[in-house]
Amino acid sequence: MTETTTPQARPVLSPWLQGQLTTLLERRGHAWLLQGPSGLGQYTLGLELARAWLCEAPTKQGACYQCRSCHAVDVRTHADLRTLMPEALALELNWPLDEKTQKDLDDKKRKPSKEIRVEAARDMVAFSQQTRSGGSTKVVFVYPAERMNHVTANTILKTLEEPPGECRFVLASEAAHQLLPTIRSRCQTHTMIWPSEAESLSWLQTQGVPAADAAVLLCAAGGRPEDALDLANAGLKAAIWAGLPKAVLRGDVGAVSDATPSQAIAMLQKLCHDLLALRTGGEPRFFMAADLPAAGTVNSLTQWSKDLMDAARTSEHPYNAGLMFEALVARAQTALRAKD
Ligand SMILES: [Zn+2]
Repeated sequence: MTETTTPQARPVLSPWLQGQLTTLLERRGHAWLLQGPSGLGQYTLGLELARAWLCEAPTKQGACYQCRSCHAVDVRTHADLRTLMPEALALELNWPLDEKTQKDLDDKKRKPSKEIRVEAARDMVAFSQQTRSGGSTKVVFVYPAERMNHVTANTILKTLEEPPGECRFVLASEAAHQLLPTIRSRCQTHTMIWPSEAESLSWLQTQGVPAADAAVLLCAAGGRPEDALDLANAGLKAAIWAGLPKAVLRGDVGAVSDATPSQAIAMLQKLCHDLLALRTGGEPRFFMAADLPAAGTVNSLTQWSKDLMDAARTSEHPYNAGLMFEALVARAQTALRAKD
């Protein structure tokens, strides 16, 4: 086979992820659990760790990005790397599914799973027992680890504890408290580091987010830089976010109708959180204080917060998204207009 691809340049990791990668590579341990809230880079760090473990010429900073192994990770065909992900997420992140799964999905026999299926976990156990194809180790990358139900988690437990031959694990989780304690106890834990605001803002600008938008979007994402980048990539502009509270107070459905139903609910939950914080003497977290109207009462906002939680549970199957947005904004307006 002729090698036609040119080696990739090593991508620049954000400085806080690079620091964590260097530290993790200095440490031993066959199973790592990367934990912390979303938006801090668990997926990126987990993948870079796996890539470096598999690389034929790794440096202290990580994989070389030049060797056959690095190339195979890039094109998602590395025989010694196994990812365990919900099928829906694997498709989104361009990881191939096994033939049978892909066929079932192509034939529309079922929808892509949102959990890590026990069948995939069993395949992983078989993978761990196979001989390595080339390098010195095999790697299993589980993300997000909290999407394993108890059956799936129990399936990987023994392999995680005593991997046959050389096999290393990296589990990344945005809700590690939901993991079985037995899974947590078999891993060494790394808690993701929060970057400073200045680091986050300068990184967002290197990712193409205009300086004028970066601060507001970082605030909208609760200080989590990767979430802020997702918001920017979804087309959210600072001015729209800043104007959201007053638009909702006016009953303007346009404030949320560009989002998906679950995104719209998440936006309103942030607004509700901040208005309640202001009403109870706290600090807003997602909006600038100047953009928040003095609206609603503790009672009306608390009740609205409960209604939003109920809506979040059912938002994946809206009967009609347009009607749902209208109902959400009307409900919000009632809460905001309530007076003591
Ligand atoms: Zn390499």
